[in-house]
Amino acid sequence: MPLPTILSDFVGLIFPRVCLACQDPLARGEDHICTGCRAQLPYTDYHHLLPDQNPLARRFWGKLPVQHAFSYLRFQKHGRVQHLLHQLKYQGQQDVGRILGRWYGEELAEAGLQATFDLIVPVPLHARKLAQRGYNQADSFAKGLATGLGCPWQAEALRRVANTKSQTRKNRLQRWENVETVFEVAEPDLVRGQHVLVVDDVLTTGATLEACCAVLLAAGAREVSIATIATADR
Ligand SMILES: [Zn+2]
Repeated sequence: MPLPTILSDFVGLIFPRVCLACQDPLARGEDHICTGCRAQLPYTDYHHLLPDQNPLARRFWGKLPVQHAFSYLRFQKHGRVQHLLHQLKYQGQQDVGRILGRWYGEELAEAGLQATFDLIVPVPLHARKLAQRGYNQADSFAKGLATGLGCPWQAEALRRVANTKSQTRKNRLQRWENVETVFEVAEPDLVRGQHVLVVDDVLTTGATLEACCAVLLAAGAREVSIATIATADR
């Protein structure tokens, strides 16, 4: 047995590596997520559906011309997916995003989508939140997707900005949305004429991704698509 393997087995005895989805010890060769979990994750397989049959794409109908809307997993409370997202967002486990992104990117590439997107951009965090957390969880996933798809990725293409627009003429819901989703394109030259894939960790109402897509189209992006790690059923 080569020395590094013996050493890593020895380290594993003292600090057992556990699966970030189910907490069971990992076998040698398993990377952050065990084989059993990988086989049993609740995949949406939306990329195998025709666009007009994709329930996620349907949510954007009549709002924005979103070319593709993909989500890797179904969000389930108290299940593996919630656990993985918690690890990614609150436990510093950026590897969760990178690994899921790489797996998903490889799957999308195999499904014939490898040359579809020109640029992958994450939904940005507010600068204050980024400073607190130290990383953007959506960007971890974006990086993984970029690797799996073999596509360029740009973390700083979008920026979340402070909302300075007047709130007085809006109703309560509009005000809330306006506060929550204010973005601008920081690098218009990067997105002009491009098919941009906008990436986030979870899709709930879709308002955040919609706002990002809207500013990208306004800045001259040719097409926009979205991809998230998980989506919550409505
Ligand atoms: Zn597991």
